[in-house]
Amino acid sequence: MNQHLRHDHVSSTPVPFIDIGAQRRRLGSKIDEAVTRVLTHCQFVNGPEVTQLEADLAAYTGATHVISCANGTDALVMVLMAKGVGPGDAVFCPSFTFCATASPAARTGATPVFVDVDAATFNMTAASLRQGIATAKRLGLTPKAVVPVDLFGQSADHDAIADVAAAEGLIVIDDAAQSLGATYRGRRLGTFGHATTTSFFPAKPLGCYGDGGAIFTNDAELADTLRSIRVHGQGSDKYDNVRLGLTGRLDTIQAAILIEKLKIFDDEIAARNATAERYKRGLGNVVTVPGIASGNSSVWAQYTIRLPKGCDRDAFAAALKAQGVPTAIYYARSLHQQAAYRGFPVADGGLPVCEALSADVISLPMHAYLDTEAQDRVIAAVHEAVG
Ligand SMILES: *Cc1c(COP(=O)(O)O)cnc(C)c1O
Repeated sequence: MNQHLRHDHVSSTPVPFIDIGAQRRRLGSKIDEAVTRVLTHCQFVNGPEVTQLEADLAAYTGATHVISCANGTDALVMVLMAKGVGPGDAVFCPSFTFCATASPAARTGATPVFVDVDAATFNMTAASLRQGIATAKRLGLTPKAVVPVDLFGQSADHDAIADVAAAEGLIVIDDAAQSLGATYRGRRLGTFGHATTTSFFPAKPLGCYGDGGAIFTNDAELADTLRSIRVHGQGSDKYDNVRLGLTGRLDTIQAAILIEKLKIFDDEIAARNATAERYKRGLGNVVTVPGIASGNSSVWAQYTIRLPKGCDRDAFAAALKAQGVPTAIYYARSLHQQAAYRGFPVADGGLPVCEALSADVISLPMHAYLDTEAQDRVIAAVHEAVG
């Protein structure tokens, strides 16, 4: 094929929004061999790979205890159950996030109280958290827990939130579903707050080939309770259950896959950061590019820009699509704007930033296998669409 034809072919193929296939090809036989080992020993539940993965993740994050589990939502449910959160309790959550940040609190019978976020980092602000606590008290709720989210790959402001939480005696559960591997003031996520949760859904920065999740904590007693909740609430005897629990385990095959993926994870994070840098240089003068707070590093789960005032988001997305550049909107509605969550309280002062973000954000293709040619196509398409 001559150079010219090849170029035409490449530029007409859509840029993948995320590219799980490219990672699969890179890992190749490593994954096949890992899965085959499980198929050989047949310990599909609680196999040796589960223990190995938990140890690898403990070493990676610095957390003392890692409890792998079925998904990132169950991870939050399990911590709330372990801490006895329930009716009458307020659980503070940002509203600009995925629904699974808040649904676990609601499912325990507690009341999610929605809090506003920062316009540059998209993460919960301590100021709005304080207002949310005042709102909860006025409503007769007991301020019980806060679930800061490390959104789109970037850590929340954990020190600021810890200060407010300590003053109010709140349990801090860090929802790092999108941000495992990110650092806050030089330290990887996994050891902030009382517990950190994550998800291994395939599209997350560290994804498996199905559903999976994990909980990180330095609290040995909490870790023991979580291990019991993970298996129906079992006590020392499997058939003498001491509390309510779930079928909350991670499959051995998924653990085996994650062990291989964790080995290349830092390399992938570096590739995502190189793409983010190029996007920033190419796009910073036409749209609002994401702000990374000083002291933070991101794993770029999403590259989410804000469109200039007057730029029609649907038309922008259609123009990019016509150039073979897919986009996605995380999140066109904040949680307090969705039917299932509309009935829950919002912090005094309202959530103006969440609402503004939901109106003007759009996410561009981002993954570790986006070559510079594809990055430049994205940049050119954005310039053309903004006009
Ligand atoms: C994906 C996600 C979850 C839930 O993870 P699952 O594994 O899909 O249950 C929770 N919180 C946030 C912020 C997420 O992005």
